[in-house]
Amino acid sequence: MKLPVIRVAVDLPLPRLFDYSVAAADESDVGRCALVPFGSGEKLGIIVAVLASSSHNKLKAATTILRELPPLPADWLALTDFCSRYYQHPLGEVMASALPPAMRRGKLPAARQKRAAAAEVDAEPVLPTLLAEQAAAVATVAASFGRYAAFLLHGVTGSGKTEVYLRLIAQNLARGRQSLMLVPEIALTPQLEGRVASRFPRARVVSAHSGMAAVARSRAFMAALSGEADIVLGTRLAVFTPLPRLGLIVIDEEHDASFKQQEGLRYSARDVAIWRAHQLELPVVLGSATPSLETFHHADSGRYRLLELPRRAVASAEMPVVRCIDTRREKLQDGFSAALLAALAARLERQEQSLIFLNRRGYAPVLACPACGWVSRCRRCAANLVLHKIDRRLRCHHCGWDEAVPGHCPDCGNLDVHPFGRGTQRLEEFLGARFPGTRILRVDRDSANTPRKWQSLLDTIHDGGADILIGTQMLAKGHDFPRLTLVGVVGADAALFAADFRAPERLFSQLMQVGGRSGRAALAGEVLIQTEHPSHPLYRALMAHDYRHFALAQLAERRAAGFPPFSHQALLSAEAKQLEAALDFLKRAAAAARQILPAGVSLYDPVPMRLYRVMALERGQLLVESPSRPALQGLLAPWLERLYQLKTPRDLRWRIDVDPLEF
Ligand code: ADP
Ligand code: ZN
Ligand code: ZN
Repeated sequence: MKLPVIRVAVDLPLPRLFDYSVAAADESDVGRCALVPFGSGEKLGIIVAVLASSSHNKLKAATTILRELPPLPADWLALTDFCSRYYQHPLGEVMASALPPAMRRGKLPAARQKRAAAAEVDAEPVLPTLLAEQAAAVATVAASFGRYAAFLLHGVTGSGKTEVYLRLIAQNLARGRQSLMLVPEIALTPQLEGRVASRFPRARVVSAHSGMAAVARSRAFMAALSGEADIVLGTRLAVFTPLPRLGLIVIDEEHDASFKQQEGLRYSARDVAIWRAHQLELPVVLGSATPSLETFHHADSGRYRLLELPRRAVASAEMPVVRCIDTRREKLQDGFSAALLAALAARLERQEQSLIFLNRRGYAPVLACPACGWVSRCRRCAANLVLHKIDRRLRCHHCGWDEAVPGHCPDCGNLDVHPFGRGTQRLEEFLGARFPGTRILRVDRDSANTPRKWQSLLDTIHDGGADILIGTQMLAKGHDFPRLTLVGVVGADAALFAADFRAPERLFSQLMQVGGRSGRAALAGEVLIQTEHPSHPLYRALMAHDYRHFALAQLAERRAAGFPPFSHQALLSAEAKQLEAALDFLKRAAAAARQILPAGVSLYDPVPMRLYRVMALERGQLLVESPSRPALQGLLAPWLERLYQLKTPRDLRWRIDVDPLEF
């Protein structure tokens, strides 16, 4: 007897589908999960097709089709299929990574109890009257409900972007449609969840981010899939939530690098969201004070519509004054200029809060021996070990290697080994000695290494329990510190001349964000940047709060250099125990590409990566680039097919990153 056959995308790193025979299946099973035998065990897969019957009966039989779960809808299958093709990643892995972890293992959430009848709801919240620009933004987006349109909502921190999102979500809710809102950080979701839940007391709001307990995440996914959830708030992974009634997508802080996943399926949630908005014909709003240059370029060239909120929403909140402190002729005291120290002292006097921004955690980036030249290097990475003085450890920030600080130079025995350079811990130590009795709070990935510690630091800041904050970019995002009136920036110059062409864009955005923390309430804010390049155009644009000027200048440079967004890139990387092996593979990959290279696509030489060794593996990369996205895509599919055929040493791993953000 001939049995029906299911074609399954199995969670495996192989670019192919697998067929299994089953006792019974029909079209309605497409999109369902199935357990299939694989090796000696079982794997989860998703049925992408049901074939009438098998012509050859050597197929293995699928273990089970999980019919208790509703099938994933056709648009979700199309979405994951697009991602598989665009990012050149096996479909089974794409689908698996789009599911909550418990479901990925074939576990279903227990049926949810019916929600208790909505409790007596408080009176509707009183809403602020929108500013004219806000009202115009809301009206323009709302006029696009029901069809595709992409908008860039460009407005400084505090200009009322979130208020615009909330009004749009309200209108979308009134149309009976679901809204999807993406935010960069897990840490920001509880805060936002509160704001959204209190605004929409009758709606069902669910979250989706990797910090959630497995059961809660599966439930949120199911609530979205069944159409029960009205609003889904989440980090990048939420872009894959199946939403049968979806009507609006919002991406807050769209420039944030966390929207790009840096491992496994290397997708950009922002780009996937745009595709989804196209697919489902709905408006998508990208909001930021410092849009990514890609997005700004689209808005500037008319592909996206630009909506601007040019001033802060609260009348008394002015933009901070930004100034540079020229440090070329001054002998700094532990990295601080006299002007910055005086500004700090003045804030202490007035009992206002200050923030010192340094994007480098630890005490010092390296420990060194002046006698013989030894420096603390990681034995697994091409990187220095960072001194963490508080617990007397040397740590690698790339692989996590951790060892005790040596009492003497390991090479020559010299007892006098020194820290070089400064990190947040060193600033904390200096300011503590300089301003005794001051409450200094350091906020970086060491002091805020769990969500609870992070929350308690935020609480302390809000309760006025800190006079001086010292922090990395963690402090730049999304928080309101009403008594903060001074932001001091130290050590920012390095990014002006970094090899990475995106470094200035990141620096501008970070400084704008961190500056935006100050002066949000009634107190005026001041931003002081210590620099040896006080007339650098980047700092000038910051002083003038002129994002547009900065962005146009950067885009002109990128155009001249042929960098994104004026070209599209894909990065093939390989790692092995020996760099030679990685580079050899990349050379063969380059040869394979050359045979099928479409016109207009350039192929660079394989080179060691900038950080060429991590975790004892050595890494090389090969960049391909084209001004035409279709031309680049035209290369990738046949190229990857050939790469899968190449024989490789057993210890070699390779991967492709389409539209890479980091090199
Ligand atoms: P953003 O998201 O751009 O940082 P928010 O929407 O959070 O800005 O608004 C900043 C502050 O201004 C919030 O406290 C918000 O309640 C308030 N706000 C927003 N719009 C208005 C308005 N039209 N009138 C008065 N206050 C407003
Ligand atoms: Zn030495
Ligand atoms: Zn390391």
